[in-house]
Amino acid sequence: MKAVQYRTIGGSPEVVEIEVPEPGPGEVRLKVTAAGACHSDSFVMGLTEEQYTYGLPLTLGHEGAGIVDKLGDGVTGVAIGDSVAVYGPQGCGRCYQCAQGKENYCERAVELGIAPPGLGAPGAMAEYMIVRSDRHLLPLGDLDPVQNVALTDAGLTPYHAIKMSLPKLVPGTTAVVIGAGGLGHVAIQILRAITPSTVIALDLGEEKLALAREVGAHHAFASDADAAERIREATGGRPVTAVFDFVAIQPTIDLGRSVAGVESDHVIVGVGAGMLPVGMLGAPYDSTVRAPYWGSRAELFEVFDLARAGLVKVETEVFPIDEAPEAYRRLHDGTLRGRAIIVP
Ligand code: NAD
Ligand code: ZN
Ligand code: ZN
Repeated sequence: MKAVQYRTIGGSPEVVEIEVPEPGPGEVRLKVTAAGACHSDSFVMGLTEEQYTYGLPLTLGHEGAGIVDKLGDGVTGVAIGDSVAVYGPQGCGRCYQCAQGKENYCERAVELGIAPPGLGAPGAMAEYMIVRSDRHLLPLGDLDPVQNVALTDAGLTPYHAIKMSLPKLVPGTTAVVIGAGGLGHVAIQILRAITPSTVIALDLGEEKLALAREVGAHHAFASDADAAERIREATGGRPVTAVFDFVAIQPTIDLGRSVAGVESDHVIVGVGAGMLPVGMLGAPYDSTVRAPYWGSRAELFEVFDLARAGLVKVETEVFPIDEAPEAYRRLHDGTLRGRAIIVP
């Protein structure tokens, strides 16, 4: 079968032929219908040999959907032919965090060597993939896999980030989204769907700002030296209640800090290497800084229900599997509109 693999440190992803995998006891094989390309993949492929811990070769793709194709011994929770999406941040299923469905914060995943598909385990950018347990498969029903596969990360991660801030996002507040790419353009829609806040998006370039407005941002400004002033004008001088930073390099973190007010949430989702100091003399009073990772299984059900209700729609650019390297080039160059989806 064809698979998109990262094979050498510093290299580009390659389309290769590998064996079709067989499901072991308790495992499920999917015939992949769609896989999303995330900026985190670019981040991983940018790590040095000392920093890289994901194993080689690595079949990419931590956003995956497929049709159940073969069941390992003992699997009863899904049936052959089911259309499903894969919950990526898989845990042990038994610890305190997993008991709450928060497998993204499993206490034992590292110790047990459990890694998400595409980020350690073989991922979804292949014709077939193995999923560790039917617990990690959510029914898609009549949701189109190509249109919705990115909800497993580009939807789930901003949903979790925003949901934790909901008590603060009351009428009259403002939320700022920095980076209206794969995750950010969904974050804008989630904010509009589940909060009454004014949503201000920041990005580079008119096309990204136009997309931000199209998907619901009340305002979209260039992420430059004037951005803080533009935000203040738009809010009538009131401080921002929540900043969701999907870039998180030092300039965007500093910008967010400069507009966030007392009791604000500053949520760092991007893996840019910026840092945000917290202390009595440096941060707005009673402000909260969070760096969330992905989301829970229950939250992924909620995200799919938002999509079913028509409240969230991922903008996608679809690439056949042979063109996956080109999709990653476009992601790296920042020229994608929404999410790149690879179809085997
Ligand atoms: P993306 O490339 O699709 O989107 C990034 C967007 O940021 C682009 O639209 C780009 O134009 C914009 N941008 C770049 N520099 C900017 C700047 N200085 N100011 C404003 N906008 C700027 O990436 P993505 O797949 O949406 O991922 C976003 C980030 O989130 C990445 O760092 C990724 O690694 C990270 N991520 C984190 C988690 C998590 O669990 N915390 C999960 C998934 C992705
Ligand atoms: Zn991701
Ligand atoms: Zn666990």
